[in-house]
Amino acid sequence: MSRENCLFCKIAAGEIASAKVYEDAVCVAFDDVSPQAPTHILIVPREHFDSLDKARENHKETLGHLLLIAGKIARDKGFAENGYRTVINTNGDGGQTVFHLHVHLLGGRPFIFPPG
Ligand code: AMP
Ligand code: ZN
Repeated sequence: MSRENCLFCKIAAGEIASAKVYEDAVCVAFDDVSPQAPTHILIVPREHFDSLDKARENHKETLGHLLLIAGKIARDKGFAENGYRTVINTNGDGGQTVFHLHVHLLGGRPFIFPPG
């Protein structure tokens, strides 16, 4: 997936509409269009890289930031204490469909493990 045709690059740039819940210099978070839980938010770095498989040393701070923001959003939304699920799907077997790395933040119901 090239940056030019990337859905999440366009959402991060505001070129495609989304229901944003958080943004800063590094990332944007918005509601998933097909929610799998009462709260289902995607946290997306502004910098494009395809997947965790493509992440390298220079992405270390960004990856850490995405997880810290997931925790912050969960606290701000009020479901941190009950618990929540964070997911990064990677490549085909991982179920990745949009090739711009993103963290799913799911909350508001219990989750089983392992996921399907
Ligand atoms: P993944 O399968 O991990 O690559 O996740 C991609 C996610 O993006 C799915 O949960 C989709 O429902 C979600 N999605 C696809 N298009 C949009 C969109 N335009 N706005 C918000 N979420 C989207
Ligand atoms: Zn992108």
